[in-house]
Amino acid sequence: MAKIQMTTPLVEMDGDEMTRIIWRQIKETLILPHVELKTEYYDLGLKHRDETDDQVTVDSAEATKKYGVAVKCATITPNAQRVEEYGLKKQWKSPNGTIRALLDGTVFRAPIMVKGVRPTVSTWKRPITIARHAYGDIYKDVEMNIPCAGTLKMIFEPADGDAGKRQEETVFEYKGPGVAMGMHNLEKSISSFARACFKYALDTGQDLWFSTKDTISKKYDQTFKLIFEDIYEKEFRAEFEKAGITYFYTLIDDAVARVVRSEGGFIWACKNYDGDVMSDMVATAFGSLAMMTSVLVSPDGVYEYEAAHGTVTRHYYQHLEGKTTSTNPMATIFAWSGALRKRGELDGNAALQEFAGRLERASIETIESGEMTKDIFAISEVPNKKMLTTEEFLQSIAGKL
Ligand code: NAP
Ligand code: MG
Repeated sequence: MAKIQMTTPLVEMDGDEMTRIIWRQIKETLILPHVELKTEYYDLGLKHRDETDDQVTVDSAEATKKYGVAVKCATITPNAQRVEEYGLKKQWKSPNGTIRALLDGTVFRAPIMVKGVRPTVSTWKRPITIARHAYGDIYKDVEMNIPCAGTLKMIFEPADGDAGKRQEETVFEYKGPGVAMGMHNLEKSISSFARACFKYALDTGQDLWFSTKDTISKKYDQTFKLIFEDIYEKEFRAEFEKAGITYFYTLIDDAVARVVRSEGGFIWACKNYDGDVMSDMVATAFGSLAMMTSVLVSPDGVYEYEAAHGTVTRHYYQHLEGKTTSTNPMATIFAWSGALRKRGELDGNAALQEFAGRLERASIETIESGEMTKDIFAISEVPNKKMLTTEEFLQSIAGKL
């Protein structure tokens, strides 16, 4: 059989530890036998990031802007211990943070669902995708310990010196010790977040929900609500109606109640903190972190696909001891299939899009037929289930494919 051809390269970002090993195995076992794979390769492995003073991360993000689609392996975000382990020049920043900042993107996380693994929430039948605004709020706040009685004020000094725009508010009159916090956000960042969400909803044909606490936060959260509404009305309503999907705004507490009663199958856009908390809740309730996929979407339509989990260090150390591991490659396979499908869409390459679908079906059917890695084995209700090593599992998928 002739291999599927590609016209435009995918940006390939290699990574670290166990996922780096799985990365190569996925390519060799599942992709290269069927696709004449064209990639522009960037080695984001920690050693090479250190050698290039992290320039390789910036280059890979620039290449993603140029070509439009990237697939990324999990990477180590160095801490003090990693600096020692790898003899690093410095404690480099999180590659995901660097890439997200350069692409100005929003991260969408969705679970891969398989028969036999029931979500903890019994009504959930389809995936729930969480979109988290990844800028500002408590993650960029300024905090104070208040030592004694006194007045806390918030003052805005306009850069242009226009006294009419100056604002001063008393936050609180303290009678004794306490704490305080100042947060900010930007119209530009909120607009980018909104556009990325509306685009992704259209892309995937799913309804979009958005929630804040605008009844209590009458300026801060209200601004989020109004920006979403405005962009929806001006830029997306017509397309949403044509696609038969809806945009739905509600309060965060009402959203939580509705999500738990829902059947799933929609995107839930959350402010930064809500997204942090809710994505862990949703991931856990769907079964396993190893089954969460993640895609970074920029407001101008650039896509970077990856697994939501990390480099699975504990398994890697076992691997280094010569033990075989049963690490789940599903999220990394779906990062590849997501990227190949998107590349196929952008290039009008039907064969590549079909291949992405076949790869996903073969992977899901393998688990549903009872062959799975250890993490899924522990929770699957499929009769006569069998626990496989990563390599055996990939071979089994290859057979179905
Ligand atoms: P992790 O790599 O996600 O793994 C945590 C635990 O979750 C594993 O020990 C394993 O549990 C389970 N797990 C995760 N993925 C799995 C898979 N595919 N198959 C089976 N089990 C899986 O998180 P971490 O250990 O906290 O972080 C390791 C490194 O990854 C860190 O250096 C961190 O900086 C990096 N990281 C990178 C990204 C990214 O690039 N996007 C994201 C998060 C973390 P058991 O040990 O119980 O089997
Ligand atoms: Mg979290």
